[in-house]
Amino acid sequence: MRISVDPERCYGSGDCVYRVPAVFTVVDGFGAVLPGREDAADDPELREALREAVEGCPSQAISIVE
Ligand code: SF4
Repeated sequence: MRISVDPERCYGSGDCVYRVPAVFTVVDGFGAVLPGREDAADDPELREALREAVEGCPSQAISIVE
């Protein structure tokens, strides 16, 4: 599974970084997946937190694709 942030939707609230700092960061004021962490949704220990990050993103900018 690959996790990504759509820069066209993100407005930089930072919620994703607050929820899962091991996966997300802020670059130039917008949320982004840390380099090399695009497959973090494959980690069972992160899956639930990532699901909450997807659901909690106020602009629905985060997606996890099988
Ligand atoms: S929670 Fe959504 S809108 Fe906020 S920084 Fe992350 S991706 Fe962007």
